[in-house]
Amino acid sequence: MGTPNRIAIVGGGVAGFSAAQELRARGHAGPIILVSAEGLPYDRPPLSKGYLLGTEDAARILLAPEAWYAEHGVEVVTARATALDLSADRPVVALADGTRLGADRILLATGALPRHLGIPGGDRALTLRSRADADALRRVLVPGARIAVVGAGLIGAEVASAAAALGAEATLIDPVAPPLVPAVGEDLALRLHAMHGERGVAALAGTPVAIEDGAHDAGPHLVRLADGRAVPADAVVAGIGVTPDTAVAAAAGLETDDGIVVGPDGSTSHPAVYAAGDATRVRRQDGVVRLQRRAEHWEAAVRSGQAAAAGILGEAPPEFGAPWFWSDRHGVHVEAVGTMDPRQAPGARTVLRGADGVPAAAFLLAEDGHLLGAAAIDGPLVVRAARRIIDRGLVPDPERLADPSVDPRRLAR
Ligand SMILES: Cc1cc2nc3c(=O)[nH]c(=O)nc-3n(C[C@H](O)[C@H](O)[C@H](O)COP(=O)(O)OP(=O)(O)OC[C@H]3O[C@@H](n4cnc5c(N)ncnc54)[C@H](O)[C@@H]3O)c2cc1C
Repeated sequence: MGTPNRIAIVGGGVAGFSAAQELRARGHAGPIILVSAEGLPYDRPPLSKGYLLGTEDAARILLAPEAWYAEHGVEVVTARATALDLSADRPVVALADGTRLGADRILLATGALPRHLGIPGGDRALTLRSRADADALRRVLVPGARIAVVGAGLIGAEVASAAAALGAEATLIDPVAPPLVPAVGEDLALRLHAMHGERGVAALAGTPVAIEDGAHDAGPHLVRLADGRAVPADAVVAGIGVTPDTAVAAAAGLETDDGIVVGPDGSTSHPAVYAAGDATRVRRQDGVVRLQRRAEHWEAAVRSGQAAAAGILGEAPPEFGAPWFWSDRHGVHVEAVGTMDPRQAPGARTVLRGADGVPAAAFLLAEDGHLLGAAAIDGPLVVRAARRIIDRGLVPDPERLADPSVDPRRLAR
């Protein structure tokens, strides 16, 4: 296939936006059309943080001001793409209003959709993925409102934390206690979970089986748990994960497997179509062919957008190091890099760093001493050092990792 001129990006999340940015940074001079169902690309992490709390407005969370698109020759088309036509030499993106956009390459960056509670009454629960979802949630997070949040993972915990900060009475329900062990390790997961109670959020271990009508003063909803308990609520929010939005890709016959299957350069099973972000799942070919788990984090979406831009231009994608994410709740900042899931590394051991028996950071070390992952509460420098250690393949001294008097910036030396 020749060098592409006109490139159409479907999906204006951070993956699609990063791809447009990277195409220009790599010198692509041809037209770029960004088909975005939600208009100008905005950032999602603030939707459960500053935007939900009302400290950041819609303008503040835009990924770039409107002028950027004109300056960089990126045409934003506010529309939903309904199909791809790959039958001719040049692929076509079909929009909901019947418009057909031809392009030399198409990038699908359609993101993910929130999972819905598959229980009777589950459709009463609000979910949080878009700015419109956050606006709807903001309207119910008022002082005194009883909010039941189902799912105590990253987003559920952030919503419960915001609800409490806004004066609502939040109850956080999850069958697993503590949640997030695979993301931050058991010790930090326990500490983070304990914070809910300390900050006025009631954390319940339980499995919702139905959302029923509340009786009189119980509130409009009653979240029924498997053990018979019932949680009265004025509003119910489900934060139980996402599913990749593969609708357009699957209908076009592209290979999907719990995500659009892509190579490390975003290439799909069709040579003119690339994909990036939460919608995708990477198949690596390093010795064994294996499908990776979907990333579902902001930085991974940025990186995969950049990698797909390189792929589209026929260039090698950059090497990215260990995956990283952050989360903010109850006034603390959480970060993790690599993997903290001991199930992925038999023989691995955890080293803790903290003060007075309270862990502030945890490191997962492989049997041979290499660092697999790290997580920290209010410890970004520790995580940055851990990231360097992992990416350089260094074998750290566990005693120095554990010693809070060792400056985190010296850990990777
Ligand atoms: C509330 C919330 C908080 C988060 N907080 C954090 C955090 O603290 N840290 C972290 O690391 N990650 C966080 N994340 C995850 C991170 O935001 C996502 O990983 C990232 O947004 C994925 O980017 P994406 O571009 O792949 O998909 P998305 O952001 O989902 O964007 C996809 C876009 O494509 C559009 N689209 C879909 N189909 C079509 C179509 N057919 N035509 C046109 N447009 C279409 C969608 O409307 C959407 O605008 C958070 C996510 C949410 C929802």
